Amino acid sequence: MIVQMKRGATREEVDHVVERAKSLGFGVQLNIGTETTVIAILGSDTGKTPSDIFAVLPGVEAVSRIMKPYKLASREFHPQSSLIKINGCEVGGNRLVVMAGPCAVESERQLFDTAATVKKAGGMVLRGGAFKPRTSPFSFQGLEEKGLELLGEARKKYGLLVVTEVLQIEQIEKVAKYADILQVGARNMQNFALLKELSRTDHPILLKRGLAATVTEWLTAADYLLAEGNQRVILCERGIRTFEDSIRFTMDISSIPVIKRFSHLPVLVDPSHATGHAAFVPAVAKAAIAAGADGLLIEIHPKPETALVDGLQSLSFPAFEQLMADLAPIAKAVGRQM
Ligand code: PEP
Ligand code: MN
Repeated sequence: MIVQMKRGATREEVDHVVERAKSLGFGVQLNIGTETTVIAILGSDTGKTPSDIFAVLPGVEAVSRIMKPYKLASREFHPQSSLIKINGCEVGGNRLVVMAGPCAVESERQLFDTAATVKKAGGMVLRGGAFKPRTSPFSFQGLEEKGLELLGEARKKYGLLVVTEVLQIEQIEKVAKYADILQVGARNMQNFALLKELSRTDHPILLKRGLAATVTEWLTAADYLLAEGNQRVILCERGIRTFEDSIRFTMDISSIPVIKRFSHLPVLVDPSHATGHAAFVPAVAKAAIAAGADGLLIEIHPKPETALVDGLQSLSFPAFEQLMADLAPIAKAVGRQM
């Protein structure tokens, strides 16, 4: 249930609603906006409680029931779009955020050359997997700690932020030492133990959509990240499984306006995993920006033909630079900047 307070409602009136909710055994989260305060009443039994219990309280403007299972990620709870501030970079603002880099960190040379290219082309964040979730246990699993150290060095040397995946609870603090944004991969979108632990931190999180997850399931997973206080959550659409087999996954372009309507969280698009082929990445990247995405997560590699992972979908440096140039007029057409 969402309780929207009147403009100018007093602190005492807000506290009164909070106390009433707590006395009924519910949890609460406050969104204190510049205009009004919105209170989310949390608990599995809110459906059994008449909304009038809150509607009659002084200072309450309206009470609405959220029929969707997610609350904290919803626009009802947080009407303004969230701007996620991460060490000088803003995700969800006017400027689009491009995160680019190799699927996996392979060597210092590979990573540093990539970082230099990302920086020069106007990207703000370097991506690169140190711990790789692979379908087969016999595939390259990433350089692990060594990969993290290289990411940390590239971050310092090129003045970029770093995003990399965290696979397990035990790795959180180690990964956070080297990365500015922790990625939760598609295969871990419903790893609730990991999400809960990340919620207790204040590390920015990039939550990928599960390969077979609905938008509702994705936003409910985002609620796990928000439930214990972490406010810096960014969504990332990366394509879903459908019957279509001409590309690796199917890019659900409509999830972008859907997310924008139902959630306040920023959403990026990963055209690389969505398509699985470098030839299709630019078109999908452009479509994503035109559809209202807040940025992109793109795989690039100095020599895609030698990449240890995902070479087929990695853009070469010239192709990435061309894409960045081509995106500028599209961004402008939808009122954004590169
Ligand atoms: C990745 O971005 O490195 C990755 C593994 O993607 P996903 O979790 O979307 O498959
Ligand atoms: Mn990859």
